[in-house]
Amino acid sequence: MAEDIKKNAQEEEFVRPDFFRESDVKFTGGDKPWRWKEDGMTVTRTAAWAAPGCHDGCGVLVYTDKNGRLVKVEGDEENPFYNGRLCIRCLALPEVEYHPDRLLYPMKRDKADRGKNKWQRISWDEAYDIIETEFNKIKGEYGPESVVFSCGTGRGTAPYLVRICYSFGSPNYAYYLSGASCYVPRIAASNTMMGTYTVPDCSQYFIDRYDHPGWQPPAVIFIWGNNPLVSNADGNMGHWIIDCMKRGSKLVVVDPRLTWLASKADLWLQLRPGTDAALAMAMADTIIKEGIYDKDFVENWCYGFEEYSKRVAEYPVEKAARITWVPEEKIRRAARMMAQKPVSVQWGLALDMTKEAIPGSLSVASLWCITGNIDIPGGMIPTHQPFNIQTWNPPDPKEMLPLDVCEKRIGGKEYPMYEYGGVVLSQTDMTVDAMLTGKPYPIKGNFMLSTNPIACTGMQPETKMLKGFLNADINVVLDVFMTPTIMACADIVLPVATFPERDGIRSIYYYVQTINKAMEPVGECKSDMQITYELGKRFNPEAWPGDTLTEFFSHTMKEIGMSFEETREQNWVYPEYEYHKYENGKQRFDGIPGFNTPTGRIELYSTLFDEWGLEPLPFFEEPEEGPLSSPELMQEFPYVLTTGARHWSYFHSEHRQISRLRSLRPDPLVEMHPKTAAANGIKEGDWCWIENRLGKVKMRAKLSVGIDPRVVNCDHAWWYPERDPEKLYDVFEANVNQLVPAKFGRSGFGSNSKSLICKVYKAE
Ligand code: SF4
Repeated sequence: MAEDIKKNAQEEEFVRPDFFRESDVKFTGGDKPWRWKEDGMTVTRTAAWAAPGCHDGCGVLVYTDKNGRLVKVEGDEENPFYNGRLCIRCLALPEVEYHPDRLLYPMKRDKADRGKNKWQRISWDEAYDIIETEFNKIKGEYGPESVVFSCGTGRGTAPYLVRICYSFGSPNYAYYLSGASCYVPRIAASNTMMGTYTVPDCSQYFIDRYDHPGWQPPAVIFIWGNNPLVSNADGNMGHWIIDCMKRGSKLVVVDPRLTWLASKADLWLQLRPGTDAALAMAMADTIIKEGIYDKDFVENWCYGFEEYSKRVAEYPVEKAARITWVPEEKIRRAARMMAQKPVSVQWGLALDMTKEAIPGSLSVASLWCITGNIDIPGGMIPTHQPFNIQTWNPPDPKEMLPLDVCEKRIGGKEYPMYEYGGVVLSQTDMTVDAMLTGKPYPIKGNFMLSTNPIACTGMQPETKMLKGFLNADINVVLDVFMTPTIMACADIVLPVATFPERDGIRSIYYYVQTINKAMEPVGECKSDMQITYELGKRFNPEAWPGDTLTEFFSHTMKEIGMSFEETREQNWVYPEYEYHKYENGKQRFDGIPGFNTPTGRIELYSTLFDEWGLEPLPFFEEPEEGPLSSPELMQEFPYVLTTGARHWSYFHSEHRQISRLRSLRPDPLVEMHPKTAAANGIKEGDWCWIENRLGKVKMRAKLSVGIDPRVVNCDHAWWYPERDPEKLYDVFEANVNQLVPAKFGRSGFGSNSKSLICKVYKAE
């Protein structure tokens, strides 16, 4: 079988790694239309895909009055994916819309005035003219690759940004996190190992949800390095976990902190941050030694089980308990729960944000593979963009750029795994180094869409990233509000419309819904799609089919068989979901049963890694600094520092100026055990310094018995919009990300955000 597959792969054109074949059957839904009148207001059914806020695309109803003003936002109860549930960030939208600090007009600033609050309002035409002229000047002098296009968490804007990047001719599209350590590593690990990305089956792929006759709730749900009630990570909603628990699912939570879900779990594994791989391998070793893996599935559909078994045998439970701080008996119990059927695993950023993120992710993903929990009801189900719509996964560079240009992508040769992450990025750390050193070539222009890297990203933002941006000839930033990044380095600012102010398409995970404009944008704001469409047409009109943005939307969704307007009339459209696709050839591009990997099987031993010179089996590596790797440093910095956990009220560095949200968490917090506080003379609410070898930040103490006394947890991405713009809103006083070194793992992915060390003491 492997021979046939390799031969076919060579004959085929480019195939996305996350391919699978959908059935032709479609379902549509919603009793109400997409717009109606109610109590003198207009109700527009739409989806909350940024800006502002997160990328979960929840179904919302936007209420506007007779003057077209936004009155309120409610959850759309008919929406089968979200069932009317909303979190407070969306409910606070009216304050966002009419906030006095919103950016309303395009603005420019003299390059000599970077860092100063000296802005001049300009027209859209002037802004576009400047960008076009300056970018083309760079292109002429240095080549198009010297302009980098970047965005924040991706969201619905990523494919448009990638398209404008490729329209301009640059192969460099970046996320400013060391080792692209948000989600992309897990996708790349899954795609190389399984030829697909999988998510927990909480019935979300069926329009009749929990009543669907072919679905069953997971017997056990693992929440691993993730707090889905707060973060609703990766389009998987926390409330689905609760819905499954109500239907009998047991819960295992792997988290250094006692989250609300951990408090309700059947088993809580309070591990030392950064040791997930050791825990997962010890669980695998237990499962194999106790003979409770799925022998049939392993024999027929997995590759490299023998080598894998030997590797995990290096992590017996006793050894893993010493590394992870999780008691032996709990590891064994977790392993036995993992070996049940069906089991789902909602994993999260904690895996991406360890330096060796890829072997860590492979260690965890192997667990649901050897237990045969793939593509079964209630297990881990393959996912991709329904109807191949490019609204989340952007185009591949090979689809739009000549090969010699693709080869100039920074880090492309060194880190081939970057082609498997769903979005083909330039390697972030090397890109920032290029800004600083001019090697392999200088970076002279930056186009940043809805990203605030000097507040958000853990790669020494003050000492590295800011200097890099300041080296550029021109920085263009698009956003909803002023940010420390704009104030520090932007030359042109473009004001972005929010989701109720624009049309668009929401398609993450298996259903499609149009985003429907409910109101006119405030000021002269334009949607990020409109901006990239208009500017992109200037660079390369052929890359943007259609005479209007709406026609372009219809083009990107052509496989659905309906135009944008026709899809809107349907409310939402689902392809039919089928389980066990690997058995009937639908999981592969060539129709041969198996998975979309070189061997056609799930590769517990990765043949691709072998080819790339990477270790083909999962492994664990101690965090660079920690109690086992640098005991001498622990004398000075005695605590393990973890960061990056989400809050109800904020999406990374956003929302700090929204009073309703700020009132929930007015200050940055450092969470520590009462014993830790007492040992350092700290009381609840005291201002403290958290310090490591890179610097120090100031936060208020929050005491909690739900955290190990050896660990402290810091809020991330803080700045103070109410403070002096010319001091960059004190972003470097409050932002723990500057304590995170710019370092990544062997694959080019991963970072150290979750497993640092520090000391903590009371501020004067
Ligand atoms: S998870 Fe919350 S902020 Fe994100 S779209 Fe849904 S309701 Fe809005």
